[in-house]
Amino acid sequence: MAENETTQGLHENRVFAPPAGFAAGAAISGMDAYQQLCDEAAADYEGFWGRLARENLAWHKPFTQVLDESDAPFYKWFADGQLNASYNCLDRNIENGNGDKTAIIFEADDGQVTRASYRDLHARVCKFANGLKSRGIKKGDRVIIYMSMSIEGVAAMQACARIGATHSVVFGGFSAKSLQERVIDAGAVAIITADEQLRGGKPLPLKSIVDEALAMGGCESIRDVIVYKRTGGNIAFQEGRDLWLNELVDSQPAECEPEWVDAEHPLFILYTSGSTGTPKGVQHATGGYLLWAALTMKWTFDIKPDDVYWCTADIGWVTGHSYIAYGPLAVGATEVVFEGVPTFPHAGRFWETVAKHRVSIFYTAPTAIRSLIKASNSDEKVHPQSFDLSSLRLLGTVGEPINPEAWMWYYKNVGNERCPIVDTFWQTETGGHMITPLPGATPMVPGSCTLPLPGIMAAIVDESGQDVPNGQGGILVVKRPWPSMIRTIWNNPDRFRTAYYPDELGGKYYLAGDGAIRNKDTGYFTITGRIDDVLNVSGHRMGTMEIESALVAHPLVAEAAVVGKPDDTTGEAICAFVVLKQARPHGDDAKKLAQELRNWVGKEIGPIAKPKEIRFGDNLPKTRSGKIMRRLLRVLAKGESITQDVSTLENPAILEQLKESA
Ligand code: ATP
Ligand code: MG
Repeated sequence: MAENETTQGLHENRVFAPPAGFAAGAAISGMDAYQQLCDEAAADYEGFWGRLARENLAWHKPFTQVLDESDAPFYKWFADGQLNASYNCLDRNIENGNGDKTAIIFEADDGQVTRASYRDLHARVCKFANGLKSRGIKKGDRVIIYMSMSIEGVAAMQACARIGATHSVVFGGFSAKSLQERVIDAGAVAIITADEQLRGGKPLPLKSIVDEALAMGGCESIRDVIVYKRTGGNIAFQEGRDLWLNELVDSQPAECEPEWVDAEHPLFILYTSGSTGTPKGVQHATGGYLLWAALTMKWTFDIKPDDVYWCTADIGWVTGHSYIAYGPLAVGATEVVFEGVPTFPHAGRFWETVAKHRVSIFYTAPTAIRSLIKASNSDEKVHPQSFDLSSLRLLGTVGEPINPEAWMWYYKNVGNERCPIVDTFWQTETGGHMITPLPGATPMVPGSCTLPLPGIMAAIVDESGQDVPNGQGGILVVKRPWPSMIRTIWNNPDRFRTAYYPDELGGKYYLAGDGAIRNKDTGYFTITGRIDDVLNVSGHRMGTMEIESALVAHPLVAEAAVVGKPDDTTGEAICAFVVLKQARPHGDDAKKLAQELRNWVGKEIGPIAKPKEIRFGDNLPKTRSGKIMRRLLRVLAKGESITQDVSTLENPAILEQLKESA
């Protein structure tokens, strides 16, 4: 990869300084303050993390050792310290005098609002925890949470943490088969679920899918199914196994002594999105994970006591763990928890909800932004400019690279050119943000996640683990362990070692699986796409992201995904899948537009990047977390049929449509 330069990240020359007012009050104010923290970490790595862990968490028993590398790559952090995550998120805020502060503003699918103060939430979690204990659930047991977005969903996670049970949240959109596989892999003793969930005005089943999963067999470890009554819909009840949440917890005491656990105690197992293959059961530890969730709330989101913070992710994804269930509560914030979907009752729901709750910090995914651009293009009423967004002071994105044009739209139309955008690069495995602008310090460049957080030793290397100079693309790695990193893959330490610490890189660097490039002048990082997705056209290596962003910059294009397919003359040819802001074209119209887009990319990047083939669709195949599944598009581009794992695919029907070329 080293010989061939890619141009990714070098085109973009728009720079946006953090607004002066923002920088003045920020937790990390100005680049000097950022640099100081980086220098502190470089000079005394363990001292740096030890200080932060003592300052940001309440320890029941203080740790004496910061990092234990004796069994690398199975690193241990703060190993002889003891704490409890739920104590840190709830009791600590009450002790600090914030018991009456609103912890959660729950915005239901139908717009109904319920609030819970820190004191309320503490009582609910304690009752829940006592209920779990009364069923014999104890420290070290695994509990599956298969719930929609709700205060009860967050309380379920916190209740597990309180008693030292390891939770594994399974996104409520997953099928019975996916649920069964996760139950078996985790060896769970109980499932917490709801009768049904409400999404977009419609009740969708949860409990009946649990029944189906358990009937598939292999789930004999499950003793209890605890059901939260959300809709009151009709469900089957199995005597002796199923119980209503309210009947289990209502009579329980509202105090529950936290179970103090070692810092390395597994707080949760969470399966990855499955964008690149079979989902992996990522295991996180209590101490290091919670430290990073709390600290990044302060650094990246600059959280302040009077902020109203809203992360639109689902608790089924890691973003909903770190930035809904743990991080905001660990810093005593007020947060919105949203049950619904961005398009119900109309595609202005996000903006309407921001105005309604006077949200000041808003965190969402590029896929949501792209779909709302498309919607507001055809309907003025749902355009962000039709709502009062004056409460916003900070915006964020996560999940995929954000195309520069989508970034600009978000900046102008949602942030009114007043709000910094934090483009946060991270993964299920990293536990929290890794590479991101700091809103009061880092000058922003659309499409770039800019610089690593202090203490994160991110770098770009070639296939043999050698550093590549800035301006050349390569493989993103992290050279030193960090507190919130994945500890292992549940039940599969070998896969952990080979997937994340491969021998090819010397077994010492964490391999993220993404390609990246650093800007020659600024050193800024831009993610170029998954390593597996790098294209090689006539010997030129290109990231998928650059071509996709060029396509999205065309006024008619809403979304694009690019893959390679084998080609006799060029080795690999570029095949682009395109979704328009208007209806899907057919016949000659499609051919004409495909030609126009080819020329457009040729002009934007260069003739070598012109897609050989363009296919139009109403949508792209996406994971249930909204990420484009390029591995399926690669199969379609080759004209083969799909035999891969599609268990986490949101919209299987779209595959049929994308088989045909324009
Ligand atoms: P699997 O590991 O099962 O293939 P996944 O990688 O999609 O699934 P996640 O852990 O949810 O599962 O996603 C992490 C990935 O998302 C990163 O490796 C990166 O490819 C992408 N990503 C997340 N945030 C950003 C960002 N700000 N910029 C660019 N890419 C991002
Ligand atoms: Mg991944």
